[in-house]
Amino acid sequence: MSWIVRSARLLGGEPTDLLVRDGRIADIGPGLDTAGADVVDAAGLVALPGLVDLHTHLREPGREDAETVETGTRAAALGGFTAVHAMANTDPIADTAGVVEQVWRLGREAGHVDVRPVGAVSVGLRGEQMAELGAMADSAAGVRVFSDDGRCVADAVLMRRALEYVKAFDGVVAQHAQEPRLTEGAQVNEGELSGRLGLRGWPAVAEEAIIARDVLLAAHVGSRVHICHVSTAGSVEIIRWAKSKGWDVTAEVTPHHLLLTDELTATYDPRYKVNPPLRTDGDVHALREALADGTIDVVATDHAPHPLEDKECEWDAAAFGMLGLETALAVVQATMVDGGLMDWTAVAERLSAAPARIGRCDSGESAQGRPLAVGEPANLVLVDPAAVRTIDARELSSLSRNTPYEGMTLPGRVVATFLRGRPTVLDGKLV
Ligand SMILES: [Zn+2]
Repeated sequence: MSWIVRSARLLGGEPTDLLVRDGRIADIGPGLDTAGADVVDAAGLVALPGLVDLHTHLREPGREDAETVETGTRAAALGGFTAVHAMANTDPIADTAGVVEQVWRLGREAGHVDVRPVGAVSVGLRGEQMAELGAMADSAAGVRVFSDDGRCVADAVLMRRALEYVKAFDGVVAQHAQEPRLTEGAQVNEGELSGRLGLRGWPAVAEEAIIARDVLLAAHVGSRVHICHVSTAGSVEIIRWAKSKGWDVTAEVTPHHLLLTDELTATYDPRYKVNPPLRTDGDVHALREALADGTIDVVATDHAPHPLEDKECEWDAAAFGMLGLETALAVVQATMVDGGLMDWTAVAERLSAAPARIGRCDSGESAQGRPLAVGEPANLVLVDPAAVRTIDARELSSLSRNTPYEGMTLPGRVVATFLRGRPTVLDGKLV
């Protein structure tokens, strides 16, 4: 089976053709021979390497009322992704080789994207006893990213031991930086607004203190640490400092923290309730700058589906989290590309190459995040940057509806996604 992608703008450059054969990019150049190939007309479309998400909640096993591997990976393909890292806070928790292999197998059966399970750092995410990291690394799932996400690894000794342990198999600990005592009962960003709303404040220092501790710990033991969903200007400063020391520290920002501010929480609409909380204009500005200059390496969705009953209730009772897979690229275009902060080459780095490198899925048979070049696996997405769409939750493929972008008009549309030469999305629809 072969495909000709006709007149695509590779990373936003001049239009050219791409020949896809046997799962790989077989040729690149103008006017390629179409004999025997199916043709995708990509005039006006930008071609990027398939996107890789470092931070997805697929909810299966245990919360199949919110999302399943099947529905979540459909949403991922429609968003232009060819791989996602599935977080460990499922039920049961992904803290054994058995559970990570189950999630990995479900991903293979669904076949829409590569599912890379994330292993829990601690047994039951309880933050006490280290999980069997080595067994998960050695399993068929080949886990390289470990995280208690949803919870912080608050115990400094446990964090140190995990950082030391993952070195043996080139793993990384991805930290959800939230000092638990400083955020007990916290609901929204701590500041003038939290006082006005009468909701418990979530101070920036609760995130920054953990990041400062963990970059120091990672340097001390010579390991690598990845910081999940950075949300404050102060966090950016600490990461910038750690990188200036040459320490092996990477970081991600979510699309919602690049676009939305805590002003939205004044509506008391729980769709804007998220962990970490939406912050101020100043934080958003600092996050965009940091993503543009590479201080923040990656955009990761933190796709967090919740069923209606967990979101359509009073603010205090509502679950934290937002959908993200089907809108991530559009939000990045709106905040970074259309504003002139990043070009499409940088988008490919931050949403494909860097997350694949950090997750150590950038080599081997199912390599992700590779360049669009002859001989490389044909993982790619075609996006129409001139399109605009108004977000309607009912049109999203996710099983849940908790998008914060409902009714907003966003630029760009994913037209096609290819996973190892096989289209998973064509004409904006799942194949
Ligand atoms: Zn988290």
